[in-house]
Amino acid sequence: MNTPAPNIAKGAIETDAVIIGAGPVGLFAVFELGLLDLKAHVIDILDKPGGQCIELYPDKPIYDIPGIPVINGLELAERLMTQVKPFHPAFHLGQSANALTKLADGRWQISTDAGTKIAAPVIVIAAGAGTFVAKRPHVDNVAEYEGKSVFYAVRDKEQFRGKDVLIAGGGDSALDWTLDLAPIAKNLTLVHHRDGFRASAHGVNQMRALVAEKKIGFEVAQVTALHGKNGMLAAVTLSAPGKPDRRHACNVFMPFFGLTIKLGPIAEFGLNLHEDQIPVDTAKFESATPGIFAIGDINYYPGKLKLILCGFHEAALMAQAAFHIARPGEKLRFQYTTSSTSLHKKLGVA
Ligand SMILES: Cc1cc2nc3c(=O)[nH]c(=O)nc-3n(C[C@H](O)[C@H](O)[C@H](O)COP(=O)(O)OP(=O)(O)OC[C@H]3O[C@@H](n4cnc5c(N)ncnc54)[C@H](O)[C@@H]3O)c2cc1C
Repeated sequence: MNTPAPNIAKGAIETDAVIIGAGPVGLFAVFELGLLDLKAHVIDILDKPGGQCIELYPDKPIYDIPGIPVINGLELAERLMTQVKPFHPAFHLGQSANALTKLADGRWQISTDAGTKIAAPVIVIAAGAGTFVAKRPHVDNVAEYEGKSVFYAVRDKEQFRGKDVLIAGGGDSALDWTLDLAPIAKNLTLVHHRDGFRASAHGVNQMRALVAEKKIGFEVAQVTALHGKNGMLAAVTLSAPGKPDRRHACNVFMPFFGLTIKLGPIAEFGLNLHEDQIPVDTAKFESATPGIFAIGDINYYPGKLKLILCGFHEAALMAQAAFHIARPGEKLRFQYTTSSTSLHKKLGVA
């Protein structure tokens, strides 16, 4: 016997559309839905909007955004955020959309790992290739310390105030957080397996200046063991070629060894998948499950190109179809932003 669909959870947020993924395509979906008066809540596991553009290539130039000859990943994300401002989207950042439930009233409910529950008639999956997962260090028992004294991301830097912090890595994240946390931490040491960095020269120079002023430490070494109790670190073992291993006291260890991408919890949503992507029809960008749309890198259809501009087109068509689900029976009038006074009002330019 099938279990009956549940009612909306107590305290759940109710809205028109939930967008999973605040990458460029998810952000533009906020705009397209907003033009049709559909309010969106956006969830992203990252602590800032921008998706791959911010996480993988913030300073790389993009040359194929129509009408913008060149723009880097960071600027594109910032401009999209400006563009969606009139629609006041609600962002739930640093949260993973973990479960999708069909409700008794026909709507959908998304639950996040932070306990947020949002019910809506329309779910827009704009999750790119999935969630960015931090590469773990090769040390025993690391799982025991994760989330307690080993962190792969900074959600609130205040939690590191007055702590003995050890950061490992040689890329921009390691260097950026070294510079950001140096004034907050009691002691901060950066370790990297070589005295050369992938990070920007500017960040490296700033880090070296802090080392010269003895405000932070830098060591060429690798963390090879963790020591502590109940998930709370007391020290790590640092190993360097040609030197004896030594203990380094610290109560926070932050390895920044890069990210891999995995589809993550969306794989368990019960949707049809084609090689970890969601097949959609190209008239609406709706999946085979009514009310669940998929746009951007996450979707699959013949001829699909994983380009930002294709995702923008998909967002526009998705919004038209989503309107009829969110506002059944209401008429949708096609309007241009150049000439529609009602759109100008929504955009705050009237
Ligand atoms: C190095 C590089 C250069 C590129 N250059 C170009 C270029 O020049 N031009 C171009 O058009 N494209 C380029 N691309 C591709 C482009 O970045 C992607 O097509 C685009 O980012 C797709 O946008 P999206 O919004 O669909 O997904 P993404 O940008 O991947 O964003 C998806 C978001 O969903 C979030 N997410 C996933 N699962 C969950 C979950 N369960 N819960 C919460 N959040 C979740 C992720 O954290 C992520 O922030 C480039 C890509 C790379 C890697």
